[in-house]
Amino acid sequence: MKLMSYACGEWVAPTGRLTQVVSAVDGAPMGNVSTDGLNFAAMAQHAREVGGPALRALTFTQRADILKRLGQYLMERKDQLYALSYKTGATKGDSWIDIDGGIGTLFAYASRGKRELPNERHLIDGEVEGLSKTGSFIGLHVLTPLQGVAVHINAFNFPCWGLLEKFAPTFLAGVPIITKPATATAWLAEALVRMMIESGLLPAGSLQLIVGSTGDLFEHLTCQDVVSFTGSIDTSIKLQAHPVILRNAVRFIAERDSLNASILGPDAGPGTPEFDLYVKEVMREMTTKAGQKCTAIRRAIVPRAHADAVAEALKARLAKVVVGNPEAEGVTMGALASQAQRDDVRAKIELLKQDARVVCGDPDNFEVVGADKTAGAFLPPVLLQCDDPWAARYIHDVEPFGPVATIVPYDNLADAVRLANRGEGSLVASVFTYDPAVADELLFGAAAFHGRLVFIDRDCAKESTGHGSPLPHMIHGGPGRAGGGEEMGGLRGVKHYLQRTALQGSPARLGQLARTWIKGAPEVPAPVHPFRQAIDELVLGETLHTAERVVTLEDIEHFAHFTGDTFYAHMDEEAAAANPFFPGRVAHGYLLLSFAAGLFVEPAPGPVLANYGLDNLRFLKPVSPGDRIKVRLTVKQTKPRNADYGEVRWDVAITNHDDELVATYDLLTMNAFKAAGA
Ligand code: NAP
Repeated sequence: MKLMSYACGEWVAPTGRLTQVVSAVDGAPMGNVSTDGLNFAAMAQHAREVGGPALRALTFTQRADILKRLGQYLMERKDQLYALSYKTGATKGDSWIDIDGGIGTLFAYASRGKRELPNERHLIDGEVEGLSKTGSFIGLHVLTPLQGVAVHINAFNFPCWGLLEKFAPTFLAGVPIITKPATATAWLAEALVRMMIESGLLPAGSLQLIVGSTGDLFEHLTCQDVVSFTGSIDTSIKLQAHPVILRNAVRFIAERDSLNASILGPDAGPGTPEFDLYVKEVMREMTTKAGQKCTAIRRAIVPRAHADAVAEALKARLAKVVVGNPEAEGVTMGALASQAQRDDVRAKIELLKQDARVVCGDPDNFEVVGADKTAGAFLPPVLLQCDDPWAARYIHDVEPFGPVATIVPYDNLADAVRLANRGEGSLVASVFTYDPAVADELLFGAAAFHGRLVFIDRDCAKESTGHGSPLPHMIHGGPGRAGGGEEMGGLRGVKHYLQRTALQGSPARLGQLARTWIKGAPEVPAPVHPFRQAIDELVLGETLHTAERVVTLEDIEHFAHFTGDTFYAHMDEEAAAANPFFPGRVAHGYLLLSFAAGLFVEPAPGPVLANYGLDNLRFLKPVSPGDRIKVRLTVKQTKPRNADYGEVRWDVAITNHDDELVATYDLLTMNAFKAAGA
């Protein structure tokens, strides 16, 4: 069978020198691979000239909608992927992380994109900044999609999740993708991409696939392109040093080796819930996906006094692990992804043995169920224990990407922090403690070295996603060795594919570009009361100026007794005057908000459906009995929610009889569309 690449809208069969990839379980051929003859320059051009414009013509909301429908399409067909996944050595549970987890990232980005990004082709980032005395020249930041191609290079361990967790934010950003899965497990990634293309949901040119090497692709990259790499530190260094990457300042994001630590607090000795949770978690991290997880616990950092107890408890649990063919009854841990990978891990265990003794697991002597041990890439879980971690050469530097962990003793908490940080930057560290002082010391001592710090205790254990859960909305990526501090999760992952540009100009011009009314831009007189207009009839800047109303002492008294808010600043002249903020008794802020509504509301049933809340409320000047107030209400933004209604953001300013600003806020209402009968 030939594994094909998908280039310039065509499936291309491998030619020339073919490399065979095989099942991790029994060595059976799974396909032949080659990219000889692929035209990489044409692929990059196809992405830029066909995929990019098609994606950039869509809004964030439209792209989010495609991601959701793609997720549904894949979910209905995922069984085909599961069947292929077993051959990578993955158990059903491992495949669930890879396949359901991968599809889950599509849904997660779809829903965040829909909720948190505008139905626009650009994104305003941050607040307006005044750049002149009178406010007629202002600044604003905008994010727009890069006009190049995103090259995704993935590791072998999670062929589906790895591909989709990069695809989703890039697609949502509006940038076309050339994805290159690791060759060792490329048959599963190829099947996934086939489904994605067959769905017919993706715009032409938005996704291409390279099965095999990347040829001369890097020669054709420009300043508008991004390389997003997951794999070993050595490959990352090599690729990042490519002259074109350096010369053209091509964005390069790396997620790579990580010597993740999990720390058992000094309070969490045998018999505590945290001790049991810890042992369970270390064992889970060692055996899930046969330890080939970028976030797996490599160093179990424990109080010296409890090191033997942890070793014994882990030994007992690991003895129950059944290694073998993931499709065979009773097997709890499958094979590594390839024999080359297994040999690499075995070599690394030999290095670790110079620092630590083996507590359990012998790579030369173990049982394999339902498979021929010599034909597959099997290895038992191997637990080591180190006695002198500061004299060790390898445990903090060598990442065995398999079912291997080392118990590392610490003498006090400062020692634990330094040992955890000795990994020189990791994706994740976890802490098992119920002691607030321990948690505090670890936060300030260790957070800067780790992309994620997970605190696990009896209160959150049931719902915690654990040490290594690759949640799409959380940080993925980490400082130092783990890649250099890039945060990949959530909407930050989208922003890696957008260019941030400072815009400068008048409030009217920037408001027009930002699709919002900005203070200082002209007001538009309202033809009728704005509450009588449907959301699609409102014009940004449309403004209502209300009549004035006097705020009396009786009003304040009435409001205080009616609501029960008899705070002294409203009730006691002497005490209020002694307060640095007030001249004497003043009106309640909430009374002013209520009076403001009373001034601007148009009461009859109409397009305004509901008051949805207030944002950015500030009380700026106290209102004393006898003061007069009035309101300016301006349409600031409109945002459709569905075919029937949407959100209107109103800029509200309450001023006093001297035109001084008393309070300012954004009012949010839900308003109907005209077609919906408004
Ligand atoms: P690797 O050898 O660095 O390979 C990673 C990817 O780079 C593969 O797709 C590989 O393709 C490709 N590649 C290798 N040389 C290349 C070149 N010259 N030009 C372009 N692409 C090239 O890493 P691995 O050994 O497969 O993966 C295991 C490592 O990944 C572990 O060290 C682990 O820590 C790390 N990892 C990190 C994360 C994370 O998020 N931080 C996640 C998973 C894994 P081929 O397969 O075709 O060689």
